[in-house]
Amino acid sequence: MSVRTRFAPSPTGFVHIGSLRTALYNYLFARKNEGQYLLRIEDTDQTRYVEGAVEGMIQALSWAGVNHDEGAVFEGDHIVQKGEKGPYIQSERLNIYQNHIQQLLESGHAYHCFCSKERIEEVREVQKAKGLLPKYDGFCRGISLEEAKERAAKGEPHVIRLKLPTNRDIHFHDIVRGHVTVNTEDMDDQVLMKSDGFPTYHFAVVVDDHLMEITHVIRGEEWLPSTPKHVFTYEAFGWKAPQFVHLPNILNADKKKLSKRQGDVAVEDFIRKGYLPEGLVNYIALVGWSPEENKELFSMEELIEQFSLDRVSKSGGVFDTDKLNYINAHY
Ligand code: GLU
Repeated sequence: MSVRTRFAPSPTGFVHIGSLRTALYNYLFARKNEGQYLLRIEDTDQTRYVEGAVEGMIQALSWAGVNHDEGAVFEGDHIVQKGEKGPYIQSERLNIYQNHIQQLLESGHAYHCFCSKERIEEVREVQKAKGLLPKYDGFCRGISLEEAKERAAKGEPHVIRLKLPTNRDIHFHDIVRGHVTVNTEDMDDQVLMKSDGFPTYHFAVVVDDHLMEITHVIRGEEWLPSTPKHVFTYEAFGWKAPQFVHLPNILNADKKKLSKRQGDVAVEDFIRKGYLPEGLVNYIALVGWSPEENKELFSMEELIEQFSLDRVSKSGGVFDTDKLNYINAHY
């Protein structure tokens, strides 16, 4: 099966330099393996949508030369033709998530939850006060699907949650971090569908990565704690999970996560300041990945040639403006 990767930003603002690196590694890995690299806009949280963010992202990525191949024409759930220019937009795919949630409801891997926000808040507060992990208490787990459907049809507000098995270890392998095990007692019955009929990120990401035949999910380490939920969702569908790679953060000189307070972090800032795309791409590729060949200046073709996931570092790479300037000046 040919390698297929994706970059899946949420359109919530500017493109962080760390996101550019995530996109770049997905791109390099796909190119290196003569596979495909897709762009997918994850806009199912409409409250966080920022006007113009999608256009800004596409511009920044194309400035950097990280061009997506994209994808596919769907017939129902199946890709019938690959190679169309995208990107995919999740908010245009709502019927796909609606259809898939039915499967999990029918198989007993998901359930309707009619609890109010206030009740859930209360439950969490009580658990926190007892020193327990604040999570949903499963109050609606026992409602039959028939009754739930009736209540939903009458317009009773609800969400749909994943039904995790009790006390079971979920295992997966991360290419950078190795074997990861999490027990379901330390996990929450994740909301998969929200009351507005939109999927959550956690549901849409699994459905889409499967339907788009993604073989390697390469993303930031902030998503590592979410991966066990995704792995269980794949299992609930009877699907094979992709391979996972969680990239360590890019850090500032104090070894803290690079943030706007320390200076430029948006790709747009670097564009405005006149950096060369080749310089920024070359530099950012080396923050957290060490090529076999010991040199500092690489063209995109050379990066593709050299790229391998087993040389991605486990610890966060430090962003060093002097080094970026040095590389930028040599183009
Ligand atoms: N939409 C998520 C983000 O903006 C994507 C996470 C993933 O790649 O699965 O970070």
